[in-house]
Amino acid sequence: MAKTKETPMMQQYNQIKQNYPDAFLFYRLGDFYELFNDDAILGSQLLELTLTQRNKNADNPIPMAGVPHHAAQNYIDILVDKGYKVAVVEQMENPAEAEGMVRRDVVQLITPGTRMNTSADEAKENNYLVALYHAPAGSFGLAYSDLSTGELKTSTVANVNTVLNELSRLETKEIVIPAPLPADLQANLTTLGIMVSHQTTTTVNAEISYLRQEITAVEQLTALDTLLSYLFATQKRSLDHLQIAKAYAVSQYLKLDRNSRANLELTVNLRTQKRSGTLLWLLDRTMTAMGGRALKQWLELPLLDRATLEQRYDKIGELNTEFFGRDALQEALKQVYDLERLVGRVAYGTANGRDLLQLRNSLRQIPDIMVTLGNFDPAIFGDLLSKLDPVTDIEKLISQAIAEEPPISVTDGSVIRDSYNSQLDTYRDVMKNGKQWLAEMEAKERTATGISSLKIGFNKVFGYYIEVTKANIDRLDPTRYTRKQTLTNAERFITPELKRREEQILEAEAKSSELEYQLFTQVRDRIKQNIARLQKLAATLAELDVLQSLATVAEEQQFVRPTLVEDHQLAITDGRHPVVEKVLGHQSYVANDVDMAADDTVMLITGPNMSGKSTYMRQLALTVVMAQIGSYVPATAASLPIFDQIFTRIGAADDLISGNSTFMVEMAEANTALQQATANSLILFDELGRGTATYDGMALAQAIIEYVHDNVHAKTLFSTHYHELTALESELEQLKNVHVGATEENGNLVFSHRVLPGPADQSYGINVAKLAGLPNPLIKRAATILAKLEAQDVTLSEQGSSLAEPAAVVPNQTTEAGGQLDLFAIPELDPKTQAILDAIKNLNLATTTPLDTMLKVQTWQSDL
Ligand code: ADP
Repeated sequence: MAKTKETPMMQQYNQIKQNYPDAFLFYRLGDFYELFNDDAILGSQLLELTLTQRNKNADNPIPMAGVPHHAAQNYIDILVDKGYKVAVVEQMENPAEAEGMVRRDVVQLITPGTRMNTSADEAKENNYLVALYHAPAGSFGLAYSDLSTGELKTSTVANVNTVLNELSRLETKEIVIPAPLPADLQANLTTLGIMVSHQTTTTVNAEISYLRQEITAVEQLTALDTLLSYLFATQKRSLDHLQIAKAYAVSQYLKLDRNSRANLELTVNLRTQKRSGTLLWLLDRTMTAMGGRALKQWLELPLLDRATLEQRYDKIGELNTEFFGRDALQEALKQVYDLERLVGRVAYGTANGRDLLQLRNSLRQIPDIMVTLGNFDPAIFGDLLSKLDPVTDIEKLISQAIAEEPPISVTDGSVIRDSYNSQLDTYRDVMKNGKQWLAEMEAKERTATGISSLKIGFNKVFGYYIEVTKANIDRLDPTRYTRKQTLTNAERFITPELKRREEQILEAEAKSSELEYQLFTQVRDRIKQNIARLQKLAATLAELDVLQSLATVAEEQQFVRPTLVEDHQLAITDGRHPVVEKVLGHQSYVANDVDMAADDTVMLITGPNMSGKSTYMRQLALTVVMAQIGSYVPATAASLPIFDQIFTRIGAADDLISGNSTFMVEMAEANTALQQATANSLILFDELGRGTATYDGMALAQAIIEYVHDNVHAKTLFSTHYHELTALESELEQLKNVHVGATEENGNLVFSHRVLPGPADQSYGINVAKLAGLPNPLIKRAATILAKLEAQDVTLSEQGSSLAEPAAVVPNQTTEAGGQLDLFAIPELDPKTQAILDAIKNLNLATTTPLDTMLKVQTWQSDL
């Protein structure tokens, strides 16, 4: 089939497209962005657009789909959210002035990691792009940025696991790499659905090399350069709002791996994957988007530094003493817009008049905030107060320059305020007074000529004119009036004065919009020069906002200031799980103490299912996290050490990343904890070992407890339904039993949710099954089996049990021995029955005749 020759436009399209094979190309054609070929086919499906064809009648029509240019942002967001890239192609010259094809080029490549979060529900979320470099030494250089706020950070990360933790903390959607990554990491990225973009040229523009000035580690610089090069290659503009890169080390913060973060539901609800029901949800009373993002960052990186934490407690205390001050602060913060993102738009050149007014209105709150802070104890709030800069010059500039109700567009005029610029005033004067002037001239001419029907009019061809009826022509002085047009019964004239005025009016209209745009850009540029100051202000306001949020919640939920102790003592009075308490109500929640002396290592928690074991453990972990972000904690008194790491094995969520079984994940997590925990760590093991058969699980649980107790010394909370383990208290000096209370009333279980000293006396599993509504015959049968099992008295730690010395219990031995016992196993058989079973099992059918077999069966039958 003969191929139709490509039109010049499609040639241009194809040329551009070949450089962006993995992106949707939004090709600007007049008032539309058009998609062609495969982009059009897939795009029309994803965006629900009508698929049409270009060159319909040609041999090979081209699939095409388009979106109106003013609605493009929505469509772009949809595609980027779905994990695609979009290259925006604009007309680079005015079509009216172009010779031949209008020049077009890509002006921006929008990717998942460079998308600016713009919708209201994204205000409190960052969107990070991460660059990753695998250094020859084996470690990783990592750099990340939120393009909308300008935040820029780097770090060196030791191994793949920590990389994955950081990527998960940052909720990474896209990473950029200068060179291939190790295969295992690459595989994980694929499973996690993280887009990997390549940036092989990593030379950073001299103009922005100042962003690198504080970074010294080579691997971090490589990652940073990769990040910056990619940002410039995709955004194609100066990015003045990027902040000087700051290095951080994961060891500066309380370490929480991604599973623990998820298990504790710090920022994401496990069930709904939303914010609701998380610690963040509980603590977030921030008034600004900046504060909202900062609170989330605090929660994701709890601190280890005592001095900073004490300062935060001090501030919360002060805010709750001087609550008039706190009210005033909240009122002022409510009026503060998202300075970080406003500043980002200023740098991007996308801020409009309304954005600048938001900036100004925000700045106007600063003096009030300073007065408020001035009323607080200077020893406590002096540092934040001294960081507050009202950026008065910018506030004044915007007040003077920008009109009170500017339109969205910055090119259509009405953006700049009157009397800001005398030239603009003149134009406006001319425009406004033009009509008035013409009316006056008309009156003047009528008097001068004595023609009362004389009038001044306007048309597109001749502009302004003076019209006189034919009957009155004679009265005009021919030297003053030039004839322009003759109608049936009138003539139209112009005068030099009229033309001068006309020129002024028309010029004023055209030029004023142009001048306004120019003035607006100048204002924007002046603000651009102050970006660093504005960002510093934004950071200070964000911190204030987080503090007032924590103070507000602390007061409402009756939290207490924690005492950070130097030794390893843990003493919490009336501790609560803050989120469960919030949901159940303060009255319904049963507060519990946590008491662990400096050298106590393991707290073994027994109690029936549903009694509150897991809640008790989570409540401790959340209390620790809260204390280490500088928040008050849910208790009436709390003293605790600063923990370096928290490990959790809670719940049975399968690890989606590795695709491993629950039990494998359980063991892997236990292993991580045992390997990495120190005496300053907190370990929470919830029902560890339940993922395998009873003996197996019990044996492992015991061995793990012993290992922690003897070698790790981390504060460990271990909940279990293996009663037998409680006997360990007599052997392990630093282990103590507690149990969560429950009583049986008329065969029903009543939970007190109260944590009491000593072991629980039974496990009540069957009662819980009954509570859950399992059929009655089944419950009865379970009770019978239980009774038989109990009669056998299977215990691990007692001599003469079916297992050897606990220390000698090795998991695979247990399995090989078949020493597994599950709920529905039948208790041991009497010797006679057993002998018959053995005989059946050992009967060799290959060597036995049918008749022999029948005879044997007959004997067995009679024996039974
Ligand atoms: P377990 O881990 O022992 O199976 P959970 O900790 O999951 O039990 O608690 C089960 C339910 O009991 C929780 O969903 C919660 O509603 C309630 N609960 C737990 N602890 C308390 C408490 N201290 N006060 C009130 N209700 C509680």
